[in-house]
Amino acid sequence: MSELRAVSLGQVTTEIPKSPRPVSVLWQAPDSIAFVARGREHRSEFHNDPSDEVMYMIKGDMNLHYRTPAGEEKIAVIREGEIIYCPAGVPHSPRFSPDSFVLVLERKRRPEERDRFTWYCAQCGAELYESIKHVADYREDPVSRAYAEFYDTESHRTCARCGHVTARP
Ligand SMILES: [Zn+2]
Repeated sequence: MSELRAVSLGQVTTEIPKSPRPVSVLWQAPDSIAFVARGREHRSEFHNDPSDEVMYMIKGDMNLHYRTPAGEEKIAVIREGEIIYCPAGVPHSPRFSPDSFVLVLERKRRPEERDRFTWYCAQCGAELYESIKHVADYREDPVSRAYAEFYDTESHRTCARCGHVTARP
């Protein structure tokens, strides 16, 4: 066992704005992952993952959009200093500003597990595009890679049901 060391959340949130990456991974252990993320502008997809998530707002407020099993979109507001539990399998979209920070606790994915990043049509609600990934390492920033797949290809953003094309941000 290596030496145990505490991490300063204040220091982490000072360093993230100077980094090209929006996420700072604090640790990745088999049963526990911790990272701090700043908000992304134009967050639009819903993330469905096999791990429970606990989110604590270090700075700023978050609108956590999520979808019920019936497909209804709801919003939970998490204010600065508040914490929320999001069960595994609930599609969720954490929307908060780039100068706000969240601490996220999850567990490491098992080899057979997949994360899904799904976009829905803003006009008719149909599913537009889904990126399925094995998230082996959070430092690879899987969310940004899914965004590139969606926005770089117009057919991924074109609704098969109503023809509406989701614009680039
Ligand atoms: Zn549509």
